[in-house]
Amino acid sequence: MKIRRCLPFLLLASLPFFAAFPAHAQTAISSAYARDPQQAVDQDYTAHIRKYTTEPYFNSPLTDYLPASKTVPTPTKVLGDVSGAPGMLPYAEDVYKYFRLLAASSPRVKVYTIGRTEEGREMIAVAIADESLLAKQKDNDARLAKLADPRTINLDDKVATDLVKQSFPVYYITGTIHSPETGAPTALMELAYRLAVDDSPYIKYIRSHMIVLITPVVEVDGRDRMVDLYKWHLAHPGQNWPHLVYWGHYVAHDNNRDAMGMTLDLTRNVLNTYLGWHAQVLHDLHESVPFLYDNTVGDGPYNAWIDPILAGEWAEIGWNNVQQMTEFGMPGVFTHGDFDTWSPGYLMFLAAMHNGISRLYETFGNGGADTEKRILGPEEYERTWYKQNPPLPVVEWSQRNNNNYEETALLTTISYFAQNSPQWLENYYLKAKRSIQKPDSSGPAVYVISAEGQSASRRAELLRVLGLQHVEVSRLTEAATVTNKVTAKKTDDKDGKEKTDAKVDVPKTVTFPAGSYVIRMDQPYSRIADALLDRQYWAPDDPQKHPYDDTGWSFPDLFAVPTVRVTDPSILKAKMETVADPGAPSGALSGSGDVIAINDGGDISLLGLRYTLKDAKISVADAAFDAGGKHFAAGSLVIQNASSDAVKAAIKNADVEAMSLGSAPSVAMHNAPAPRIAMMHTWGGTQTEGWWREALDKLHVPYDYISTQTVSHEGGLRDKYDVIIFAPLGRSSTQQIVNGMPMWGNALPWQKTELTPNLTIDSTEDMRPGLGLDGVAHLQEFVKKGGLLITSEDTAQFAIEEGMAPGVFVNRGANVHVVGSVLGAQFVDHKSPVAWGYGDSLAVYSADGMAFTVGNMTVPRHVDTQKDYHRATGRGGPEEEDIPQGRTAVEPEPLPSPKPWEATPLNEEEARDNPYVIPEQYKPDVILRFTSSKGLLLSGLLEGGGAIEEKPIVVDAHYGDGNVLLFANNPIYRGETIGSYALVFNAILNFDHLAKPAAAK
Ligand SMILES: [Zn+2]
Repeated sequence: MKIRRCLPFLLLASLPFFAAFPAHAQTAISSAYARDPQQAVDQDYTAHIRKYTTEPYFNSPLTDYLPASKTVPTPTKVLGDVSGAPGMLPYAEDVYKYFRLLAASSPRVKVYTIGRTEEGREMIAVAIADESLLAKQKDNDARLAKLADPRTINLDDKVATDLVKQSFPVYYITGTIHSPETGAPTALMELAYRLAVDDSPYIKYIRSHMIVLITPVVEVDGRDRMVDLYKWHLAHPGQNWPHLVYWGHYVAHDNNRDAMGMTLDLTRNVLNTYLGWHAQVLHDLHESVPFLYDNTVGDGPYNAWIDPILAGEWAEIGWNNVQQMTEFGMPGVFTHGDFDTWSPGYLMFLAAMHNGISRLYETFGNGGADTEKRILGPEEYERTWYKQNPPLPVVEWSQRNNNNYEETALLTTISYFAQNSPQWLENYYLKAKRSIQKPDSSGPAVYVISAEGQSASRRAELLRVLGLQHVEVSRLTEAATVTNKVTAKKTDDKDGKEKTDAKVDVPKTVTFPAGSYVIRMDQPYSRIADALLDRQYWAPDDPQKHPYDDTGWSFPDLFAVPTVRVTDPSILKAKMETVADPGAPSGALSGSGDVIAINDGGDISLLGLRYTLKDAKISVADAAFDAGGKHFAAGSLVIQNASSDAVKAAIKNADVEAMSLGSAPSVAMHNAPAPRIAMMHTWGGTQTEGWWREALDKLHVPYDYISTQTVSHEGGLRDKYDVIIFAPLGRSSTQQIVNGMPMWGNALPWQKTELTPNLTIDSTEDMRPGLGLDGVAHLQEFVKKGGLLITSEDTAQFAIEEGMAPGVFVNRGANVHVVGSVLGAQFVDHKSPVAWGYGDSLAVYSADGMAFTVGNMTVPRHVDTQKDYHRATGRGGPEEEDIPQGRTAVEPEPLPSPKPWEATPLNEEEARDNPYVIPEQYKPDVILRFTSSKGLLLSGLLEGGGAIEEKPIVVDAHYGDGNVLLFANNPIYRGETIGSYALVFNAILNFDHLAKPAAAK
């Protein structure tokens, strides 16, 4: 890998060639961006900008110089070189140091701490504007707050118009959410300097008409790790780098998919800052596409819950941005592209769903600060109608080029924004007003979440997410009756059969009891609540054939929290009160007595309680029972010998409703010791398993974090662990899991050293080796000795291919098209502890329509069924049998008709002398299957669903004395699949009660 190291700064500055520069030729176009002729230019800095820019057309008159200041330091003060210099990447700490120097030297800059990351690193926001604006910021914010919530001004447009006239907008820019996308921090440092000191009329106009708010590093934990790796790379020239296996503490690229579930600190900190400042725009900086993709316009389908005004704003700002950059002659700038604006999971979408404007740039980056020859693919460099000046097919690209593009694009766009600031504020108000008017326009009026008859902990999680999204939650103080329109299929009454697909609205009267939770749509942030609580439909024949991300996410389905969409606006007049803190712990203990029972309603917090109350005697009920006037499902916890204060606190935090009983219930129970858990990861990728770690940590479930390499080296796993979780990796093959990365080339260490102090979470001298054959043998031994191995998606396939799941197969050859959809499933086996606490059905997240099949043999050998039989040519009608002439007819052996989720029974002939036949106690138990076609698609895209209808998706395979639990769905994903968490947790808590009864052996 070629590296162009920078010359020492002073040496370069002394070269005569760089001694002076003529002012950049001013064209008619760039006169809008004319400089102040009185302002001196920082010649040294400017010389370096030009040196590090690989071609003049990769820069613009806005950024090919730096104005000088006698009092305000340039980024060089901290960086030792200019922004975007080759070979230089600053840690977040140094970036902050510079912003604090700016704030100390310029009254136009203020720095705020906006929160901490999972690993405790600081996140900041920097406000830049004229001193006079910053001085008036509090008053301005009070006005913006009224525009943000038009209820405060009785939706009075005249008052709003006055407020708009007096107010200035806030434009929030966020950098480096994706850690290998390294350019934004230095670009934003220099941008802040320019905004603070440049006296060009257009910059003066910007800072006197708006506040620019900047969070230079969003993923701070990941940034510091990336800088470590870059330093390693500089210290090991010519070697392959270790890849950035961990970005944030939990997830990598998916940190930009958290804007729905709000599980990560960075998402919460950015939303709180965005809403706290009442900003109009959230603009996120990324790097992947040459040379600048302003994906604001993107492609369809657009999200169905945005205000149409936003689509217009995207188009206006996006195309304006492209045009300005095109006028500068900078190649490769475009705004239409393949990013569809459907899913609201992206960080920028926090603004789209909260009445602001979401924006995003993809610029071109080298994943570090090396200057590199970059070779583009035809799709990248070919001219299209929306890319008339496309990127160059081969290019020498530098981090400075990247910074030029980012800064130029931002400067032109915020200049345009400042010039038109009243328009954005008017729209900001109008979008908020329309959000409040939703019940009277598009509807619905409210969503109602029942307070009874469903899992309290799952409901608490849903309310918590709404609270984090700043959605107001109310509770009925009296029962309310509404007439809700329900869309139903028109049916013929005579024979009850569906004659037509016509949909009709059927009025249905529903009464909601007092205490029901109400999410009113007449509130400013109704849009995000509606987007999360509604269902999604992606038409299979949509012209967009490559959805950018998940197509469905309906939270009531994925959280398994029944929620009613109410269109009758009369419910808004029902008596209700606002819930002060929808995220507050909500568990409660009633009754009196020394024994405490907690119902298992498929709750997510029972497993965590086992660890929180580590000294208590906890048993699990093997069957349902009634006690204290309440019904308890199988799987309910019975707690004895616990101090009541500790139990009360734990129950409150666990969001469960518990009951004290006078004595232990008379039901079969088994002791539930705290299982010893290991989470096993590979060094190939940790993102998808990161969501599992996040869930376990949040729910107070402790585990050892080990890698496939640990398992490769250490046997005796069963002595240490009861459960090993091998969470999905994201489309890895068994070969990759076993072999790891190729062993040629240099070692790829991930270690905390003096050079790389931030490479933490786990550690290895070399990331290349995989699980190996020894590791496979150790895992097999672990399960054979009674351990539970939990697998999902690609790791389930691994367990199958390594022979640890006799009779389970991946449903191959299925021509099904699913892209991150929510699909309906039915429980097959209610007796399995895995299913305890659940009703008959459950919605699951399916990434790509994976399903299983099961059989009675360890090989997928075809066994004839009734479905395969087609009668031969012969006598009789189509339903009759042929009869050979001249002899007595013999009845054939009846062909079996198994259900799609069942194994095909073998007849005597097939089973005789067949070593592949699985003994009874090792036959797999299907726990959950997809539904039939009706109800299979709940949300998102589904095409060719016939291939997976009624096929198994959760199977408990028996291997030796232990179990392998296989998920074809991902039960723990992005904090969005709360409804399926308990499948995993039930299995862990009852790991030693999953085997078939000993009698069967
Ligand atoms: Zn990115």
